[in-house]
Amino acid sequence: MTESTPSALTDAPLIDGFNLVVDALRRNKITEIYGVAGIPVTDLMRVAQEKGIRYFGFRHETSAGHAAAVSGYLKQWPGICMTVSAPGFLNGMVALANATTNGFPMILISGSSNRAIVDLQQGDYEELDQLQAAKPYAKAAYRIDRVEDIGIGVARAIRAALSGRPGGVYLDLPAALLPAQMPLAQGTASLIDVVDPAPARIPDGSAIDRALALLSSAKRPLVIIGKGASYARIESDLRTFLETTGIPFLPMSMAKGLLPDDHPQSAASARSKVLAEADVVLLAGARLNWLLGHGRAPQWAADGKLIQIDIEPTEIDSNRRIDAPVVGDLASSMRLLLKGLDTIPVKAPAAWCDAIETHKAANVAKMVKQLANRPVPMDFFAALGTVNTVLRDYPDIYLVAEGANTLDVGRNLITMSRPRRRLDVGTWGVMGIGMGFAVAAAVTQDAPVLAVVGDSAFGFSGMDIETICRYKLPVTVVVLNNGGIYRGDDVNRLDGQLPGVTTLSAMARYDRMIEAFGGTGYHVETVDALQRALREALSSGMPTLIDVSIDIHAGTESGHLKKLNPTSRATVPVASKA
Ligand code: ADP
Ligand code: MG
Repeated sequence: MTESTPSALTDAPLIDGFNLVVDALRRNKITEIYGVAGIPVTDLMRVAQEKGIRYFGFRHETSAGHAAAVSGYLKQWPGICMTVSAPGFLNGMVALANATTNGFPMILISGSSNRAIVDLQQGDYEELDQLQAAKPYAKAAYRIDRVEDIGIGVARAIRAALSGRPGGVYLDLPAALLPAQMPLAQGTASLIDVVDPAPARIPDGSAIDRALALLSSAKRPLVIIGKGASYARIESDLRTFLETTGIPFLPMSMAKGLLPDDHPQSAASARSKVLAEADVVLLAGARLNWLLGHGRAPQWAADGKLIQIDIEPTEIDSNRRIDAPVVGDLASSMRLLLKGLDTIPVKAPAAWCDAIETHKAANVAKMVKQLANRPVPMDFFAALGTVNTVLRDYPDIYLVAEGANTLDVGRNLITMSRPRRRLDVGTWGVMGIGMGFAVAAAVTQDAPVLAVVGDSAFGFSGMDIETICRYKLPVTVVVLNNGGIYRGDDVNRLDGQLPGVTTLSAMARYDRMIEAFGGTGYHVETVDALQRALREALSSGMPTLIDVSIDIHAGTESGHLKKLNPTSRATVPVASKA
């Protein structure tokens, strides 16, 4: 490990690694850091705070990492998570891997132990070869060994996180780097202001023409909008394109609100029908992964044609033949498609639109009937329908959603009307994003946040309600408490006195947890009480948790993913909640 030593011959002022790292971040518009303090990064966080970066200290690195990731998604600029070495670093890795999978720009910065000892495996404090460990899960991973390389290291990390398909970048800072010094003038000169880290990628004109020709020939066209479109902020051009062509659209879950869910062209309540029948589908920033049945039968028409706009060239043909690839950034691509309509006009046939309309009306009528039920104890429909009713008065709220049934039912019931307001478990279906996402949404958007989470999901990040209370953030957490993972009525088949595999405490009072940290708690058992509590909570603008008692028999095993859990035998009825 080389440490720069101050020149004995001159009195030139010096700067250390702590200050250079912070200055490099500040020069590149980093205004928040999320993390958990400890060796060797505590002073790095203090210096950041002293120099005006807002620091948010969490109770678990995974939550801090999720906060950084969703900050990246909301700001189109990397969110920063900072952790201690080995175990703290590994806790942060879940969030980093999740960010990479979802295409959220973030940088995980971890302190690391003495390289010489780590490399010879001589047993240092928190010894781990973090750089190697991070590589498979990150879009890119770098280590800065020399103080004079801090500017370049930070610049590379920012560029890697933002360019092309965004993702998670790991930046390793060995403990010895931070106190190392170099002359101030050279140090300052070594820092880099990153220029144009996410350059436009203009698709080929022929790709645009090919896509429009295919669309104009379609009898049953469909546009699927994914969170890539949401990230790229193309709502304005996208709306004009859709309204000009009349093509029906389906939003993926985090693209809900890019156009309002109640837009007449939304085909969300005829989802199965349009997927199965569309003959030309345009994918705008959505991947043909498991969330879309890989684009294959039986969910999709086997002979349908596909157009895909994506910035990542290798995404094309990844699951199914793409007939008209548009490789480019979504903003440029959508602008060109819109312009291209002047020469290649596209109009969705009325017969197709009418058929969808009829189908939607039937489904909506079914849903209205289901929502009229007000069972006690509540089920997921009653509770989430109530949340939706209240949220109509809060169109700007940021909604964080996780759980199994809570997530699935909520995705259908909770209407979004503004872009990027829905933040959820994304591509992996990862549990534990709840409190981290809520903190970052509140902090970066300066807006109220509602986290609607299952009781099981809440367990993964629940301790970070202390963080929400400590920073007095305008976050309301609604825990749909049915006493279990999926459901609360599992049994131990050997000994009925012991908990079943998916059983949690149905009598748990999560509202009392937030009271312990100075927040406000509510426990509700009816639709009316939930509605009252939620209105009070949202108008208070203060940390609140509403524990919503849900029938332990409500919900399905694995939520909508029953097919991924084919051997499930959790069908045994047991006595109801006392
Ligand atoms: P969803 O889960 O909503 O379907 P995905 O995460 O599967 O969304 O897909 C998002 C896609 O958007 C990714 O393939 C990603 O490469 C792409 N993408 C992200 N940002 C841009 C952009 N600025 N321009 C074009 N494509 C983008
Ligand atoms: Mg549950």
